[in-house]
Amino acid sequence: MKTYRALVNGEWKTSSSDQFIISYNPYNQEGWARIPQMTEGEISASVQFAYKVFKEWKKTSGLERASLLHRLADLIEENAEHLAIIESKDNGKIINETKNQVMFTARNYRYFAGYADKLVGNLIPLDNKDLLDYTSMEPLGVVALITAWNSPLSLLANKLAPALATGNTVVIKPSEYASVSTLEFGKLIQEAGFPPGVVNIITGDGQTGDTLIRHPLISKVSFTGGAQTARVISRAVSENLIPITLELGGKSPNIIFEDADLEEATVGAIAGIFGASGQTCIAGSRLLVQRTILDEIISGLRRITETIKLGNPLNSSTQMGPVANLAQFNKILQMIESANEEGAELICGGSALEHKDLNGYFIKPTIFYTENPNLTIACEEVFGPVLTVIPFDTEEEAIYLANNTVYGLSAGIWSRDIKRALRMAQNIEAGNVWINTYRTSAIGAPFGGTKQSGYGRERSWHTLYEYTQMKNVMINLSEEKRNPFSIQL
Ligand code: NDP
Repeated sequence: MKTYRALVNGEWKTSSSDQFIISYNPYNQEGWARIPQMTEGEISASVQFAYKVFKEWKKTSGLERASLLHRLADLIEENAEHLAIIESKDNGKIINETKNQVMFTARNYRYFAGYADKLVGNLIPLDNKDLLDYTSMEPLGVVALITAWNSPLSLLANKLAPALATGNTVVIKPSEYASVSTLEFGKLIQEAGFPPGVVNIITGDGQTGDTLIRHPLISKVSFTGGAQTARVISRAVSENLIPITLELGGKSPNIIFEDADLEEATVGAIAGIFGASGQTCIAGSRLLVQRTILDEIISGLRRITETIKLGNPLNSSTQMGPVANLAQFNKILQMIESANEEGAELICGGSALEHKDLNGYFIKPTIFYTENPNLTIACEEVFGPVLTVIPFDTEEEAIYLANNTVYGLSAGIWSRDIKRALRMAQNIEAGNVWINTYRTSAIGAPFGGTKQSGYGRERSWHTLYEYTQMKNVMINLSEEKRNPFSIQL
């Protein structure tokens, strides 16, 4: 079993606690890596190093930061296969997806490299021509980046690329369930030539994250994870009054109208829920289907779902891997059980996979049908391969059902009627709406949630404002003596 170290101020450190967390491969339940459980003192030291380095790093030119980010992107591309394999071993995601994600990650660093030397302020025209006024975009300081286990490198890039491009330093805390790819990525950070202490990676459990975000030298927290943790973090950072970006979960509606291309919509529904074994924040876990096409859609869903090939995530022919860890496996099975108890109709799946060659955390892709949109399985995020189909009759009802959730991350609309699709897009409460596609990503498009799916945006140039603060500078050009008791306008 390989033992990893944390990256603090450019050095690979083990913890003085001598405690380690074991990373288990969800495909075969084998412990395959050990990551250090950092102590409070070590976490604090990493923030202090990042704070010290920030004073120099923020003076670097945009061009210098851009060069480093491009070099990092080159290295990611060169090491894509290696990183993808590690990530698949860490969280069970199929290799085709982790490879794509790693390449997408490289694209993310390049995108923000392009902005590093374009952080322009404004010259503000004022009424008083004796005053000159301009703004500048300034980095925030040390940013705490906390990621979930389902896509560690991709989630990290959404935060790290803009944070570095805008001149911040960072301390990263990946999930204890999948820290290894982030630690491997740390080697590329060093190889790319980032000065020691600009990027620090500390490891440990949830308490490690808690200690990190409470540190008084942290200027911002960017968090991807669940709503419960987000509440704890929001309360904690309110003490220090620092900004926070929250990327949380969802119960996203994927809505199929009778005038859609039904074959395409069915495939889109399958991709929306069973991609990554349903462990994506944007999973289209509520499938709203117009009643007139219900039978056709359900039989199409069942037909495809029953042929989904589960297996070793490292085989390129595998379509669905295991779920990422034992806690998640148990939680999903528990939710399936309560869906049965509450009276949802099981269409297919509905249990763990029993197969002589597979002893990992495999759950059969599962579909429920219900007319009751208030069942737990229709309201709560499963974060697993479980789809709930709910019928509707009219467009108004589809809008009502789509918005009948505390979440607001994403939604899909399948219709050939562009007016209807756009009306739906206008009325749906979600940060991301897809029309006739689902789970499609682009770095240039802003991503984020509304309602309890979080706030703030990632990817796209809008994110530059998440990692900078505006400074206003006003200059008096006049030689006239001022009256100290009147305001100069
Ligand atoms: P958690 O909220 O449990 O954990 C997320 C991260 O926070 C982990 O690194 C975790 O560490 C850390 N953490 C736990 N407690 C604290 C704390 N008190 N203070 C600071 N950090 C803490 O989420 P999951 O890992 O279970 O991830 C699943 C959730 O993430 C789902 O709801 C999913 O929808 C959401 N998600 C959202 C995405 C988005 O972009 N909107 C993308 C992907 C997932 P540790 O794991 O070591 O406990």
